[in-house]
Amino acid sequence: MFDNLSQRLQATVKRLRGQGRLTEENMRETLREVRMALLEADVAVPVVKAFVDRIRERALGQEVLTSLTPGQALVKIVHDELVALMGGANDALDLAARPPAVVLFAGLQGSGKTTTVAKLARRIREREGKSVLVTSADVYRPAAIEQLRKLAHAVGVEFHESRADQRPVDIARGAVEAARKRLLDVVLIDTAGRLHVDQAMMEEIKAVHAAIQPVETLFVVDSMAGQDAVNAAEAFNAALPLTGVVLTKADGDARGGAALSVRHVTGKPIKFLGVGEAPDALEPFHPERIASRILGMGDVLTLVEEAHRTADKQQAEKLAEKFRKGKGFDLEDFRDQLQQMQRMGGISSLLEKLPGVGELPAGARDQVNDAQMKRLVAIINSMTPRERRAPDVIKGSRKRRIAAGSGTQVQDVNRLLKQFDQMQRVMKQMRKGGGLQRMLAGMR
Ligand code: GDP
Repeated sequence: MFDNLSQRLQATVKRLRGQGRLTEENMRETLREVRMALLEADVAVPVVKAFVDRIRERALGQEVLTSLTPGQALVKIVHDELVALMGGANDALDLAARPPAVVLFAGLQGSGKTTTVAKLARRIREREGKSVLVTSADVYRPAAIEQLRKLAHAVGVEFHESRADQRPVDIARGAVEAARKRLLDVVLIDTAGRLHVDQAMMEEIKAVHAAIQPVETLFVVDSMAGQDAVNAAEAFNAALPLTGVVLTKADGDARGGAALSVRHVTGKPIKFLGVGEAPDALEPFHPERIASRILGMGDVLTLVEEAHRTADKQQAEKLAEKFRKGKGFDLEDFRDQLQQMQRMGGISSLLEKLPGVGELPAGARDQVNDAQMKRLVAIINSMTPRERRAPDVIKGSRKRRIAAGSGTQVQDVNRLLKQFDQMQRVMKQMRKGGGLQRMLAGMR
């Protein structure tokens, strides 16, 4: 998401940074570029207008004109206003109510509701250690009930049975009652969506809402839907007291207009981003971090959090020790590193969050891809433990055996060995040159 918007705004920002002085002329030009970039990203027209007006107002004020680096000051304003547009701070779910805390999901068909119910159920169970029960009040598509049953099983949460001949209101009440009796903490209720906003659907979900009085009513919306997403958000917001929005399919090539418009149009916070089909592909929505990502400043915080979550502590310490001592980093450690990267969502997800990567040419980014990482792991797996510890022994016949074993070519094995060799050399240099600290300082 945001690829195009991000490229355009970064180009604007780069030009600005170079400006020693801001004149009315280049300010007008910049505002025009920002406006065009937002419109092209499908941000709703009134939202673009309000946004550009805010920037103009602040940019003409003291903070820019008196700044020593007016270009930088203006970039900061764009960043701040992007953050404000998306709602400021992250808004977490409020599940502190007397249990069971009930969460109702609303949204159009295909928006990703059922998938999101499962993702969130998993998250609440794993991260907060709460017991979760899910149910489907979608009585129009028997396949929908079946889909949620399977997902609930896959993520290890309770599933409350429902049937196509029941009323949605009764299903929802039944699930809450069951959770209360069994002292479960949280109930998530999936509902039926239609392809378009229609009266009957709205009446039905309003009735369900009135019957169970949820603490959270989340509107799920597909970020690829562009302007339609904004219209649907308005309609649902008018019908229901929404407490938040979940924006799905942010991993796709959506232009990002929905993400930037929904908050402004509904006044409700985006609480989560769906970033893939897998049950763990859900991120809390942090406006600050997304704004930095859009402007190419990277999202190092999310990266660090992911690293903490997925890291194997013992392994990390073992590695740090080897690193300090300057020896013993072998191909097994290299494989551990690769696997850790995969656990963190793969190379593409990592790159997206690193500062400056947006400026690399597309070709350079494609050189490291997830398929290649899997290939590297396969090659290392085909080696004997001795070969992994002392790669120098890997010569002709061993190379052929390893290539055959991993379904690769000898030149793939050669490339891996060369990369590993380079890595060791870089590590050596870093140790000599003052270590990691210095390298990180250079990145800032
Ligand atoms: P529902 O009709 O609103 O319940 O939608 P579903 O949960 O059945 O999702 C519709 C499709 O979108 C399914 O194929 C999901 O796997 C897919 N999907 C949902 N969320 C995401 C997401 O964040 N990223 C991607 N790439 N696909 C998603």
